[in-house]
Amino acid sequence: MIPFNKPFLTGKEAHYIYQAVYSGKLSGNGVYTKKCQTFFEDHYGFKKALMTTSCTDALEMAAILCDIKPGDEVIAPSYTFVSTVLAFVRQGAKIVFCDSCKDNPNIDPDKIESLITERTKVIVPVHYAGVACDMDKIMDIARRHNLLVVEDAAQAIDSYYKGRALGSIGHLGCFSFHETKNIIAGEGGLLSINDERFIRRSEIIWEKGTNRSEFFRGEVNKYGWVDTGSSFLPSELISAFLWAQIENMDIIQTRRKEIWEQYYEGLKPLAGKGYLELPEIPDYATNNAHMFYVVCRSLEERTKLIKYLKDNGVMSVFHYLSLHKSGFYTGHADSRPGNLQEVEMHNVKNFDGSITDELRVVGLDLPECDRFADCLLRLPMYYELETAEVNEVIRSIHAFYEKG
Ligand SMILES: *Cc1c(COP(=O)(O)O)cnc(C)c1O
Repeated sequence: MIPFNKPFLTGKEAHYIYQAVYSGKLSGNGVYTKKCQTFFEDHYGFKKALMTTSCTDALEMAAILCDIKPGDEVIAPSYTFVSTVLAFVRQGAKIVFCDSCKDNPNIDPDKIESLITERTKVIVPVHYAGVACDMDKIMDIARRHNLLVVEDAAQAIDSYYKGRALGSIGHLGCFSFHETKNIIAGEGGLLSINDERFIRRSEIIWEKGTNRSEFFRGEVNKYGWVDTGSSFLPSELISAFLWAQIENMDIIQTRRKEIWEQYYEGLKPLAGKGYLELPEIPDYATNNAHMFYVVCRSLEERTKLIKYLKDNGVMSVFHYLSLHKSGFYTGHADSRPGNLQEVEMHNVKNFDGSITDELRVVGLDLPECDRFADCLLRLPMYYELETAEVNEVIRSIHAFYEKG
């Protein structure tokens, strides 16, 4: 069986963890944390980088830094992971979902402006599959309406928009080092801070609402409780693990891109015949090969393809369900402050023929998001995936469409 994902170990992880353990400094903000943060700042041009225990935590820090209050509105794509919006919901925000582009799952920048009200505070673009959103358009909208931009760059390490690193363009950026991402620490994340106004406060929020970082730098002679916050910083063991991955990032990225290209070339004939769509990288974006996906013609066809591949020893998976149709969102849609949306019941026919009821927010129609939720299929993608295995996946997909 070819698995969908396999975490890659460079070989140095245990060694660096051993060093961290025997250095006697295990808590956060030690040598390895600083090494990682400095690398990201120097390499990607972030004004400040802070390691976190996850991207979810980085997003929560961002929501606090944006000073989200109950009733504030946040614009985000619906085709994304729960954490993108949950961080803001926890601060009391109302999420206003925006549709995806036609040819990729990223937020459609041309649909953002009509969603802005006087309560809108933040736009959260998600760089799906590590491919940049059209950031010039988004930053221009934000400037004109005086909004903040938080990039969900969870999948976007080492990827660029017009030569600028993703996560360095918005006011804040959030990355993930979860074991399913390109470089990993098991669980782990990073907050990038590009607007100087947020730097001091970000360190305080990071260290449980205290000015401990300033104390350790000798800037104040005692530290205390100065703000809200939490324990967002990871232990040295996480950063030690990540350091081994950072040292090998170039070889990891090079191999992943080879695999991506092999899929693309191998499946091009099927796209040419109109059986499926392949990801297209816009001119302004780079490809960090976080993911290889195809877009099938229907939910039925995707379900059959997943089964066919599984029967032939290949694990493929679909991705997000539309968040605007989730039970949590529809269940809370009319109860959050400032949110007067109505919901109604819909009968949904599932692929197996069964009928289920689903609540929908009245008038909230995001067809491109729904299409990616129904039709997008992710293929195995990991460093150790062999050329012969990629060929096997490609062959199986050809066989599926040829037998009709
Ligand atoms: C993985 C992911 C997250 C969550 O990252 P964690 O580090 O697991 O918290 C958030 N947003 C997107 C788009 C992701 O892909």
